[in-house]
Amino acid sequence: MHSIESFGTHDGPGVRMVIFLQGCKLKCLYCHNPDTIDTHGGKEYHIEELVQMAIKEKPYFGKRGGVTVSGGEPLLQSKELVPFFKRLKEEDIHTNIDTNGRVLNHFSEELLDKYADLVMLDIKHMNEEGYEYITGQKNKETTFNFAKHREASGKKMWLRYVLIPEITNTPELLHAMGEHFKDYNTIEKIELQPYHKLGVHKWDALEWDYQLKDARENSPEEIDAAVAILKQYFKEVRVN
Ligand code: SF4
Repeated sequence: MHSIESFGTHDGPGVRMVIFLQGCKLKCLYCHNPDTIDTHGGKEYHIEELVQMAIKEKPYFGKRGGVTVSGGEPLLQSKELVPFFKRLKEEDIHTNIDTNGRVLNHFSEELLDKYADLVMLDIKHMNEEGYEYITGQKNKETTFNFAKHREASGKKMWLRYVLIPEITNTPELLHAMGEHFKDYNTIEKIELQPYHKLGVHKWDALEWDYQLKDARENSPEEIDAAVAILKQYFKEVRVN
């Protein structure tokens, strides 16, 4: 594990305990937590230790809050997350997974079908070249198959999308995303994350080359235009 945030309010509904797991197979150009990418390192915790921490925080969760696992890519540790989420459900604690949707195996399917009350799925890009440019990996379809699996479970999902002018924020790409997902019943909302450079110092600290230096931030008008397009397809569009 990389770190734990108590009383988080940005990673799912209500007040949450957010557990950032170490390790990710992607290397997104805009990653805000590049120090969580390396699959080595991190601290080990016993599941019951984390459950007890969540129980202590439970009075602050209210009706909507709970526990989110984020990263890195939490589903690289799906096998360990199954008994963890099972215990959280026994304690009646809301569970949420913040994921890039690259891991679909027996364990992650069990989480999707049974134990995750919510899944927040990152859509990186609608085109294969764009997906590879942003993440360094091929096969955007993996994410779409993941979404399809969650849809079949009938349980809730949010989409998350980083808006970068010209790169992901174009009318064509936004319409393509809307068309792809418009018939999904489990998608409650889409959260837009307008691109900004706040994570750059972390890349510098790792001595990694930050390749999005020339990307610019969206103007308020560009954000409004993206929202207007997505509202034609999704029940709720939120800008984070
Ligand atoms: S999927 Fe998330 S954690 Fe992994 S590199 Fe991309 S932004 Fe970073």
